[in-house]
Amino acid sequence: MPELPEVETVKRTLKKLILNEKIKDIQVTWPKMIKFPDDVDEFKSLLIGQSFYDIQRRGKFLLFLLDEHTLVSHLRMEGRYGIFAQEDKPDKHTHVRFLFESGKELRYRDVRKFGTMHLFHKGQEELNLPLSQLGIEPFSEQFTVEKLNELLSKTNRKIKTALLDQTKIVGLGNIYVDEALFRAKLHPETRANQLTLDEVTRLHESIKKTLMEAVNMGGSSIKTYVNGQGEMGMFQQTLFVYGRQGKACKHCGEELVRSVVGGRGTHTCPKCQHPPVT
Ligand SMILES: [Zn+2]
Repeated sequence: MPELPEVETVKRTLKKLILNEKIKDIQVTWPKMIKFPDDVDEFKSLLIGQSFYDIQRRGKFLLFLLDEHTLVSHLRMEGRYGIFAQEDKPDKHTHVRFLFESGKELRYRDVRKFGTMHLFHKGQEELNLPLSQLGIEPFSEQFTVEKLNELLSKTNRKIKTALLDQTKIVGLGNIYVDEALFRAKLHPETRANQLTLDEVTRLHESIKKTLMEAVNMGGSSIKTYVNGQGEMGMFQQTLFVYGRQGKACKHCGEELVRSVVGGRGTHTCPKCQHPPVT
C-alpha cells in the first residue's frame, strides 16, 4: 500500500501534468469507488467544467483542488493515476477517466478496486470523513518530540500498532514503521507508554528522516507502486529491515527476522532491537 512518500511522489509528479486542465467529461466504470456523493451522475456533473489548480496530500490521501470542489482520493492497495491521450484505449483496470478539453485525460487504474474517491465543496473536505479523523502530519510544525511523547504516553498498545494508527500520526504504513523503529533501535512490541523520553526523541528523529529520505528517492517500489508518470521509486534499495528477513543486518550482521505484530508482518534485527522485558 502506498504510504506517505509514495503518495507525496504521486502528488508531485501529477501536479506538473494536470494544472489548469479543464474537465470536459468523466467516465466511471466502477461506481462503487465513488463514496461521496452517492450518485455517480451528481459526481460527474459537479466536476464537469472545472479545472485543476492544485494537488495536495493529507496523510495517505491525495487532494485534487478544483475551482469549486476538492476530490479526495485514496489509492489503497494498488491504485494508480496516470495521464494519457484520449485516443489511447484504456485497459480493463481503468475505472475512472477525467477527460480534459486539451485532448489529454487523467485515468485512475486499480487492479484490486479498493481505492476510494470523495468529492466535497471546497473547504468541506477537512470537516468530513475520511479526512476529519486524521492525525498529525509528520512534516508539520505540530509534530514535535513533546507531541509524540504525549500521544504515545496515552496508550499501552504496542509501539508499531500505535504508529500505524492514522488518527494519531498520518502517513506511516508497514514499510516505514518497520524502518523507523529499526533506526531508532526500538522493538515494535514495546508498549508505547513504556518509552523513555530519550527513546521518543530517537523515534521522532527517525520517523522524520526515514520519510524525508524516502520522499527524496521517489518512494519505495515494493510491489506495484509507480509515480504519476509510471516511474519506480528507489528507496526500496536502501531499506534496512523491511522485506529483508533472512538477510544480514546492515548495522551488525545479525540475521534479520520476520514476525507478526498486531496482525502485520514485521521485520526486525534481534540484536539491534531488543524485545521488551515482560
Ligand atoms: Zn542489527
